[in-house]
Amino acid sequence: MDTRIEIIPGDITTLDVDAIVNAANNSLLGGGGVDGAIHWAAGPELLAECRGLHGCETGDAKLTKGYRLPARYIIHTVGPVWHDGVRGESELLRSCYLNCFHLARLHDLKSIAFPAISCGVYGYPLLKAVRIALSVARDEAARHYLQRIVFVPFNAEALKVYKEVAAELELTV
Ligand code: ADP
Repeated sequence: MDTRIEIIPGDITTLDVDAIVNAANNSLLGGGGVDGAIHWAAGPELLAECRGLHGCETGDAKLTKGYRLPARYIIHTVGPVWHDGVRGESELLRSCYLNCFHLARLHDLKSIAFPAISCGVYGYPLLKAVRIALSVARDEAARHYLQRIVFVPFNAEALKVYKEVAAELELTV
């Protein structure tokens, strides 16, 4: 299967893909930013299912149904809080992406969309984070089990960074 890597700016909750990824927190019980937007759009059944998951470690990922979203599933992952870059942040962020892809493969999903995990209140520098995101995606694309890997920048500045990194990695997006 040919895997396309796409950059689609906007609101991730509107995307019709097999799974959207949520940048959640350790409790998995909702929060602000993209987490709040996903819970709001998916409806209260999502919180009920999340309560049964008993949280999520940083760097790990868990799957729920998508409820009222166009997406069939939500993959909740918990990115690292950025401190100074020497507390394992890059390994943890890479692990988020890898674990999301692992779940996608396990559940035979064909399309997945990612927000910029950790790049909001968790303060991860966008350029560094996007380099990790797109390089993991390039490796997964080479394994040919997905049709689409979508990245969703939420503003014009983020869109520019995704495009720059795609060019740097010589990705066709
Ligand atoms: P974190 O706590 O992991 O930093 P945030 O939700 O604060 O998570 O931010 C993660 C990224 O998601 C930020 O770049 C933010 O701009 C973006 N974002 C917020 N809402 C949405 C949305 N509805 N769709 C896509 N991206 C979003």
